[in-house]
Amino acid sequence: MFKSEFLNKTVKYLEMKVLPKPFELPNSFSLPQEFWNRVISMYRFTDKDDMERACSLFYVDKDFVFSPITTGNREEVTLNNPINVSYEPLSTYHYEKRVTINNTIVDKRRIYKTELPKSIMIYSALSLHTHPYSSITRSEKHYETYSITDLNSLKNGAEIGAILVTNIVGVIFKTRSGFTYYKANFNKPFQIDREKKF
Ligand SMILES: [Zn+2]
Repeated sequence: MFKSEFLNKTVKYLEMKVLPKPFELPNSFSLPQEFWNRVISMYRFTDKDDMERACSLFYVDKDFVFSPITTGNREEVTLNNPINVSYEPLSTYHYEKRVTINNTIVDKRRIYKTELPKSIMIYSALSLHTHPYSSITRSEKHYETYSITDLNSLKNGAEIGAILVTNIVGVIFKTRSGFTYYKANFNKPFQIDREKKF
């Protein structure tokens, strides 16, 4: 669906079944337009009805795909995304790759028979969720950052990182010595910078 050199690098760690060392992560990175569009639409949904939203970014046989967006309530949102990939023969030389998440087809395209993977590899790469505002002072909305539950589910989850969307975009990666935090602003899109201190 979309290409990202940075995300490809992070998925390598999942493939190798190791976590990066903190210094192996860059000081800043950028995310592709399609990724940013997803972040913005999740933010807008939550801003409209104050319900949390969530989705997962999967890496399915070398392609990134987003799960459909799940709606929670004001306090939480639970991700449950059964995923399936199938390859249907179309002709002697072509197959159709079809990725289904939660009974929704999220990716469907023609591939050459030579592109068929030897074995199917599916990784849950990142989880994304939003928080609605928690208070307003002088018409300015304030947001809670990662909850203990958020950090624990990242710690125990399969994915390598988590993204929290409020009025800013927070990114956490798991490393061999704890979490590494990044932050981006909507007025400076695509650019994600490492936080010196959380
Ligand atoms: Zn949360």
